[in-house]
Amino acid sequence: MKKVYIETLGCQMNKSDTEKMLGMLDYLGYEEVKELKNKDSADLLIINTCSIRQLSEDKAFSRTGLWGKWKKNRPNLKIAFCGCVAQQTGEAVFKRMPYIDLVMGTHNINEFPDLVKRIEAGEKVCAAGETLVDEKGFEIKRAKGVNAWITITEGCDNFCTYCVVPYTRGRERSRAPEVIIKEAKDILAQGFKEITLLGQNVDSYGKKGEYSDWNLARLLRELNALEGKFRIRFTTSYPTDITDELIDTVVKSGKICECFHIPMQSGSSDILKKMNRRYDKETYSKIVKKIRERVKDVTITSDFIAGFPGESEKQFQETLDVMKKLELDYSNTAAYSPREITIAAKWEELFLPEDIKSERLVRLNDQNKENCINSNKKYIGRELEVLVETFKNHKGKNILTGRTRNNKIVHIPHHENIVGEFVNVKIIGAKTWYLKGELNK
Ligand code: SF4
Repeated sequence: MKKVYIETLGCQMNKSDTEKMLGMLDYLGYEEVKELKNKDSADLLIINTCSIRQLSEDKAFSRTGLWGKWKKNRPNLKIAFCGCVAQQTGEAVFKRMPYIDLVMGTHNINEFPDLVKRIEAGEKVCAAGETLVDEKGFEIKRAKGVNAWITITEGCDNFCTYCVVPYTRGRERSRAPEVIIKEAKDILAQGFKEITLLGQNVDSYGKKGEYSDWNLARLLRELNALEGKFRIRFTTSYPTDITDELIDTVVKSGKICECFHIPMQSGSSDILKKMNRRYDKETYSKIVKKIRERVKDVTITSDFIAGFPGESEKQFQETLDVMKKLELDYSNTAAYSPREITIAAKWEELFLPEDIKSERLVRLNDQNKENCINSNKKYIGRELEVLVETFKNHKGKNILTGRTRNNKIVHIPHHENIVGEFVNVKIIGAKTWYLKGELNK
């Protein structure tokens, strides 16, 4: 069999695309290798790139630079540059890296097998079109594990001023409900115990286009009705697209986990306006409070940017205050990184010096840590259901790691590999990033 190695950078959307590519490559007779030792490890090398931050983009070019050197001694080696940076850069990738065989953007993933056949035949191909190529029904080859992802919406129409996604992933569209439900049934038949519905704005499912009689709540109810014991998660939610119906569905449907990932980005209403987010501090706070009142033991996580162009110390302080006040359970944090094409990248006169951004990021992370430990401590002494995900030996001790329904990571010492099982665990300790548990016999 031919061998393929794929390196995936960035978010879960990219991981989901990688799974799709692996499924298609299976049809073409490729086997995945997980480790890339040298130029002979694989016949096809793929990097699935992310353009959300400069660091990630730089990493993609540096990785492929090394692969280009390998190709000098192995001319038949094929290299594919895929994902968001490919979508954005297109043909220009060849100028910078002439040894690349395939440049494939996010819109062309469904014609990936044809593109691979063309590069195998010796062609150099760029497929980074503006229009999404339709799905062709290839089976997705999912990495074996406990959780499987299903993309339900693609793209975004929100045009937040700092974000490249609308340019790299295109306009928002929802996938057909019957296709999603079939994928879920297949996933469960393969033995997966958890399904995560993915989308840049997962909660705007059905809002636009041909499936307007559907929404996320209805889709979740349909999936909840499928037979068997399993969990359902969904991410990422746009704050103002969270409806009462969605919250009620989470409360009433036993398989849907009690966690919402709702990026706030800034605690300052003025900065939110500059970011083109469609809510202010008060609106966001009300949504969080409403969810907390209605969903028992809910975990609410968020994203924040430190040092957005023009952010004053007072405005940054508002972010720290709101994080604390709303007791957000965990947040992804990043210093602002200008991305070409976006509106905010043109506001150079408002850019903050790197040292200020870094210093604010440190304070943001400190607040995040405080929130996390406080959130975790609440569970000491409780008994929680955990789905076991891994079994590893750590410093001579066998440890199971799993997640609670509300997405808390739990470490449990145990001699036996019971990955994929639901177990009851007594929480006996809390660290910043995880809980310590004991298996209840
Ligand atoms: S909602 Fe904003 S931040 Fe999220 S993907 Fe769309 S443009 Fe980017």
